[in-house]
Order: sequence, then C-alpha cells, then structure tokens
Amino acid sequence: MTVDYLDKFNGSIIGVSIGDTLGQPFEGQLRESIRGSFENFEDFMQNNKHLFKTYTDDTQLTLHVAEALINGNGFVLNNFIEEYIKWLDDPPIGPGYGCISSIKKLKYGISWKEAASNSGGNGTVMRIAPIGLFFCKSLKELKNAAIKSSVITHSHPAASAGAIIVARAIAYLIDKDPETGFSINEFFNILISSISDSQDDIWEEFIDILNKLKSSLDLSLEAGLIKFSQVGVKAPFFIEEYLGRAFVHPYAISTVICSIFIFLKNLDSFKNAIYELATAGGDSDTVGAIGGSLAGAYFGLKNIPEDLIKVVKKSKKILKLSETLYNKFKERF
Ligand SMILES: [Mg+2]
Repeated sequence: MTVDYLDKFNGSIIGVSIGDTLGQPFEGQLRESIRGSFENFEDFMQNNKHLFKTYTDDTQLTLHVAEALINGNGFVLNNFIEEYIKWLDDPPIGPGYGCISSIKKLKYGISWKEAASNSGGNGTVMRIAPIGLFFCKSLKELKNAAIKSSVITHSHPAASAGAIIVARAIAYLIDKDPETGFSINEFFNILISSISDSQDDIWEEFIDILNKLKSSLDLSLEAGLIKFSQVGVKAPFFIEEYLGRAFVHPYAISTVICSIFIFLKNLDSFKNAIYELATAGGDSDTVGAIGGSLAGAYFGLKNIPEDLIKVVKKSKKILKLSETLYNKFKERF
C-alpha cells in the first residue's frame, strides 16, 4: 500500500487527544466501577457527553513536543526545554507531580540534570507521539530524541524506556495497513530490540514484561488488565487496595504495557480500541492518550469517526499543528 503519512500523523496526534478527553473523567477509578454505568460504546458516549469537556496534560505536552520539533526541524534540547516551560502558562491540566516539579525548576534556570525528578511516571510517554511520527524514517534519531526528551524531566530508566518503546511502535504502525494487519511477532521483536542494547536492570525488566505480554494475548481484556495493571511497580509503591483489580498504575511500565495490550486486543477498529483504552481504569486518560497514539498511527484519521474528533476541544487547531509537523517531516525525509 502507499502510505498516506499526513493521514497517519493526523490520526496519531488526534488519537492522543481523543483518548485523553474520553479517559479524563474516569481517572483514578476502577475499571469495574467505570464500566458499571453503561452497556456499550454508544451508551458510553451518550451518558458521559457532559463530562468530555477537555483534554489534559497528555495532549498539552504532546502539542508542545510537536512545536519543539517544528521549531528545531528535529530535536534541539533548548527548544524542548522552552516548550515544556511554556506549558506552565497553558496552564497544566491534571499534571503528574514528577513532571511539573521538574519543569518548574527548569523555569527558574536550574539545569535539566539537576531539575529532572527520579520519577518513573508516565509523563514522558504521554507526550512522545510526535517523536515517533517525525523520526519514523530515522530510527537512530528517534531513539536519541525519545531518550533526551525524557531525561530532561524524568531521570528514571523506566520513563526513557517507555518513551522509546511507544515512539518505536508508532514508527512501525505508521507503515501498516489496517486492511491487511501486521505480524504480532515482528511487532514485539521490534519493540524488544529497541531497548535491548542496555544493561540497565529496569530496561531488562521491561523486556521480560514485554515477553510476558506477548504470551498473554489470549487472555480476556479484563484478565489481562488485572494481570498487568501494576506490573513492574515495586513495594512500597503498590496501590494495595487495587492489587488484583483492573486499575492501571501511573508508572511507565504498567501504563505502556496496558496501553499496548488493549490496542492489540482491539485491532478491528479505532472506535473499539479507544473505548477500551479510555475505560481501562486507573490512569485512564494517559492509557487513552498512549493507546490512542498507537491506534491513530495504525488506523489513520480516515478511520476515526467524525463524532470522536468533534469531542476534542480545539480539534481543528490540533490537526493544523499535526499538518505542520508532517510538512516538516516531508521536507526533511
Ligand atoms: Mg492527564
């Protein structure tokens, strides 16, 4: 197939904002309590229409990353720092502590090496989609940009590993046709090899968990979410009352694994994928955003129902920015 890259860029970026918008009213709730109040996607959209008022930090930071890439025609450290600082004036909606505390330090002139928090939260992964898109034809630069864009705010190895994996997944999916599908084996091999050159214990743990996920794809969505909701989370950081329940912990490993799992269980349509992502339980806006970036890169804008695009605040502006990013990509690659 000939890939319509503009359609795929648009799908992935708007996918972030749809998943974020649909997931945000349910952040911090158990999947079972979210799903108890409606029967299907149509009910979900209808009953909760009044709650889908905004996107959150996931979309905001994704847009700032896109701006930084556009302004620098690629990864330029200072442009990223500048855009992260600009986000403080948006102002941030529902930010994670690790992310906002480090960016406030950047604002006051503290160097990124000292400003970065040792957080393994999902703040780096929620904003990574533009890097996966822009560098889809230059995988060395993709990895370099994924790491550098992460370590400015999060020095924990799980945060950079998660960013690399999701960026690499987007670069893979952008070239795939939803009509013909793709090889699950190849997909996992590519993700695993994207982080297999490090001796870091956490990166190795991430690989182990990706292998576990690969052999768990026949589990039901519910059972898989229960299995992976707090995967990789070390004591005492478990949320004990949610152990053994579907509630995605806001840690880079658990969030990335659950987002990939839900996406792979819903390869039939963008609509089904985004519905299951946004109602995952726990950090549902970020699972929606990350999974939305994958599903959007795979299905493209043309396969995203109009009513889902309309639910996003400032969707036209978001698509315009995505087009500018695509034009820069086209000039460079
Ligand atoms: Mg959020």
